Amino acid sequence: PLRVAIVGRPNVGKSTLFNRLIGRRLALVDDRPGVTRDRREGEARLGDLALVVVDTAGLEEADPNSLEGRMRAQTETAIAESDAALFLIDARAGVTPADRHFAALLHRTGKPVVVVANKCERSSGEPGFYEAFELGLGEPIAVSAEHGLGLADLTEALVRIDAAREQHPTEAEAHEAGEGDPVRIAIVGRPNAGKSTLLNRLIGEERMLTGPEAGITRDAIAVDWEWKGRPVRLVDTAGLRRKARVQEKLERLSVGDALRAIRFAEVVVVVLDVQSPFEKQDLQIADLVTREGRALVIAVNKWDTITDPDVRLRDLREAADRLLPQVRGMPLVPVSALTGFGLDRLMKDVFDIHARWNTRVPTGELNRWFAALIDHHPPPAVAGRRIKLRYVTQTAVRPPTFVAFGSRTDAIPDSYKRYLLNGLRDTFGLVGVPVRLHLRSAD
Ligand code: GDP
Repeated sequence: PLRVAIVGRPNVGKSTLFNRLIGRRLALVDDRPGVTRDRREGEARLGDLALVVVDTAGLEEADPNSLEGRMRAQTETAIAESDAALFLIDARAGVTPADRHFAALLHRTGKPVVVVANKCERSSGEPGFYEAFELGLGEPIAVSAEHGLGLADLTEALVRIDAAREQHPTEAEAHEAGEGDPVRIAIVGRPNAGKSTLLNRLIGEERMLTGPEAGITRDAIAVDWEWKGRPVRLVDTAGLRRKARVQEKLERLSVGDALRAIRFAEVVVVVLDVQSPFEKQDLQIADLVTREGRALVIAVNKWDTITDPDVRLRDLREAADRLLPQVRGMPLVPVSALTGFGLDRLMKDVFDIHARWNTRVPTGELNRWFAALIDHHPPPAVAGRRIKLRYVTQTAVRPPTFVAFGSRTDAIPDSYKRYLLNGLRDTFGLVGVPVRLHLRSAD
């Protein structure tokens, strides 16, 4: 797909266009300037053209010193990672100094730009539309994101960019999902578990949009960084956060944010507070992670606040395996985001489980194991007829997924299925990752 970043100053309608393009109301729209600070992504289709649309932070006018610079860096990153930019202006407001500033920035990136004059549903947008020619970024497209007008022209402009791109594949496309690709991580958990603190520790203050500006991490943001030379792409989410000052409208999106972060991620770090571990919400999140087939790592935070680490760790290990049996043996790492304790171990476990999650077992090896296992403990007879299992193959990685073929497999009891699953886990080093096993009957 063609990757396009929607950029522009606050309140020009970036989120509205984003929603219009992806066709579902995933992004946050709010009339207050500067509310849409973080990056969101969605898949879209315009005619035959497949798109990944990135909604970016606008340049914030209110907090020039701390925030603007950092948000601008985020926007620049989003543009750098995209094939093209949709540069939105508010045609009713005309071209403002902030717009010119942005145009200069876009010029420097050298990326294809489509100038989109938004809010053109009435003639009040006309002067702004003509002014937009002066930006020197080519012919503007008049649209109304809110009313869905002008999308055909926009499609045409993007199709042209896509056609030009096909002749020069971008660097990003040259190596899809290869060795050197970043491990995608999400950090999720209950409010106050210490997610933001942990994130800041891991990445360093500079790259983060947290700090005195309350509520800024309420949506997911992605950050690229390295841990000991290994690339990591990290999504922060304020999912499941309850901050009194945050509007109800924003809160309702928070579970979706967590889910989106989980879907985006390969490895999900669930942060627990050692003072109140495994509460209902923690378990719901962890369960969601495994049901989505992601690799789970549990970080038990605030380890600096306890005096009996050995006992605690043993109890937590026992509780984790009992409460989340589907990923028994998952990494569980004591950390202190405050002091930095345990972070090396945490990241090592993240990379280890990522590798396990990507395991592919050769078919020959798999079936030698399978034959021996069945020999040792054959499936039970049901209503006097033997269930037969003949062959197993791995159909997918991430998570490891297996299909076993036989006859009358629908009659196999759950206990026997668990026996097979545990055998797969223990034999092929899949402990702690979700493993899927499907049974198929040939008759
Ligand atoms: P979030 O809501 O999960 O992002 O939580 P925050 O990162 O905002 O942290 C919530 C509170 O816990 C803050 O007061 C932090 O200073 C504190 N905190 C975070 N990590 C630790 C830790 O490792 N040890 C201690 N003692 N406090 C921590």
